[in-house]
Amino acid sequence: MARYTGPRCRLCRREGMKLFLKGERCYTDKCAFERRSYPPGQHGQAQLRVKLSDYGIRLREKQKVKRIYGVSEKQFRRYFERATRMKGQAGHNLLQLLERRLDNVVYRLGFAASRSQARQMVAHGWFKVNGRTVDIPSYLVDPGEVIELKEKYRNNPQIQENLEAVVRRGVPQWLELDAENFRGTVKALPTREDITMPIQESLIVEFYSR
Ligand code: SF4
Repeated sequence: MARYTGPRCRLCRREGMKLFLKGERCYTDKCAFERRSYPPGQHGQAQLRVKLSDYGIRLREKQKVKRIYGVSEKQFRRYFERATRMKGQAGHNLLQLLERRLDNVVYRLGFAASRSQARQMVAHGWFKVNGRTVDIPSYLVDPGEVIELKEKYRNNPQIQENLEAVVRRGVPQWLELDAENFRGTVKALPTREDITMPIQESLIVEFYSR
């Protein structure tokens, strides 16, 4: 299935939590989830009283993570298959792979207000990785790599605004931001503790292991 292009706030309401898909708006009282924290649709409020089946619980967890990172079902499944072939716990590996995506790293470093904005910036060739242009949002970063915003985009008011706002979110420990030089370094691979969103990755493993 293609990537979702409909209203993003609807996804938060569907998953029953803030997924932070719209940048700064997510931190204001304009947030749709703050106003209507029940599933979308005519029978949304009634759905709050419906008890999910075991399958439903696992499905929702998988959908939630897929939506946080903005990847398609096909891509997500590929990440999962790759995660199961890696050493260690499949669930942890899956989250680590998703975190290492270049669009996620650009967002985490604060160059973009959301992952979708980061994806667009990357796809338009705004960034270099170790001095070479990389315009593939799914590129997986490795420790030691340096992500740098190209000079011609440094005065973009959106970038300035985003970098000021990242103070609120904070940059995770596995990354280092040099805001003055519009550069970020991957210090290490992300660990499970670096991913602070409430995610139960074991449910996703169970979903795919049915
Ligand atoms: Fe989700 Fe952000 Fe929309 Fe709130 S504003 S519902 S957190 S996407």
